[in-house]
Amino acid sequence: MSVKIKEYAGTPLREEDLKQGKVLLVDYWPKANYIWSAGTAIGRYLAELKNGRIVGRQCNKCGRIVVPPRMFCESCFRPNDRWVILKDTGVINTFSLSHITADATRIKEPLIPAVIQIDGTTDAGILHLVGETDPEDVRFGMKVQALWKPPKERTGSITDIKYFRPIGR
Ligand SMILES: [Zn+2]
Repeated sequence: MSVKIKEYAGTPLREEDLKQGKVLLVDYWPKANYIWSAGTAIGRYLAELKNGRIVGRQCNKCGRIVVPPRMFCESCFRPNDRWVILKDTGVINTFSLSHITADATRIKEPLIPAVIQIDGTTDAGILHLVGETDPEDVRFGMKVQALWKPPKERTGSITDIKYFRPIGR
């Protein structure tokens, strides 16, 4: 199976086409000031990412640990009980090869979005990118570890982890 694309059908849209007015373009700057609270669970999750740690919540009744954390257990229909500091390792639960970026720009070397099941959790995972591997080598169940940004560059965002990279090969 080859994943490298040599030619794309169609005509790609270029920055230059926008500047030269070759496509319909509307400039509009809405006044949209707002404040959005991440809430108790995701608020701490993001703060801990800035500290270089992944945290989850555990339910004492069923034992499940969920990440990203939520304050309730949807299996037991009750509030869960405690914070758990997790490792920054896990396995690839599922993945895809994406030949376009988030803004639909076509790329020849695919991004590898994946659901990473963090070690210590059972039936949940976080969506992130896999890096430092050939797309053809990615497999379900592959062990990976987070590559963190340096502490000064972290902002309390999931992008404080650059990507997950294979370990133990
Ligand atoms: Zn439970």
